[in-house]
Amino acid sequence: MRLRNVPGSREAIAESTFAFETPVEYKGKWNEVFGNDNPIQIEVGMGKGRFIMDMATLNPNINYVGIEKFSSVLIRGIQKQDELQLPNVKFIRMEAEQICDVFDKGEVDKIYLNFSDPWPKDRHAKRRLESREFLGRYNEILKKDGKVEFKTDNTDLFAFALEEVEPAGWKLDAVTHDLHNDAVMNEGNVMTEYEEKFSSKGNPICKYIISR
Ligand code: SAM
Repeated sequence: MRLRNVPGSREAIAESTFAFETPVEYKGKWNEVFGNDNPIQIEVGMGKGRFIMDMATLNPNINYVGIEKFSSVLIRGIQKQDELQLPNVKFIRMEAEQICDVFDKGEVDKIYLNFSDPWPKDRHAKRRLESREFLGRYNEILKKDGKVEFKTDNTDLFAFALEEVEPAGWKLDAVTHDLHNDAVMNEGNVMTEYEEKFSSKGNPICKYIISR
């Protein structure tokens, strides 16, 4: 997904009214940022933001924050949101490891992880967004009954993610290895850009929902 050297992408974030660069000053203040008391849901690794903007259109009473580490990718979301002007969408350009610097304890209602980078080498396991290290960070910022939802077509990454749940102190609420043929879990499913790409090639989509 990395689009290299998109001129002006850093400047576009700096000038945007809805995209921020690691906004530590908003920690604990996201409801003020949105100007309402609606729940806050985030997607970590949003890419070009199709999922988060479709969710925001469908659910105007939920606030959505998309997090993406590459400005060259985030710029695509900014351009789309410039057109749509959805009041319930904000973007953050940052490395997700810093998530606890930007959201306060219990500030987030739900976390979406969609088609995360696999980091296939064992020595990079801690970088996977579904690792116990990341689940520890999500534990900090999620409200008590908050949930993490993860979708991928990568069976190795999904197997790893499932193994991390219990050791990290979480529990599995629901799981499928073929989301689009699971009537219950697929109900109301909103496709991501990568989900459409890989499912159209015939890859089954795996999904879990976890909570503490
Ligand atoms: N979620 C989108 C989808 O399903 O279409 C995009 C999937 S893409 C494979 C993964 C995205 O997550 C990339 O744009 C990547 O830059 C971003 N990403 C991966 N690791 C990240 C991290 N640690 N912090 C922030 N963004 C990250």
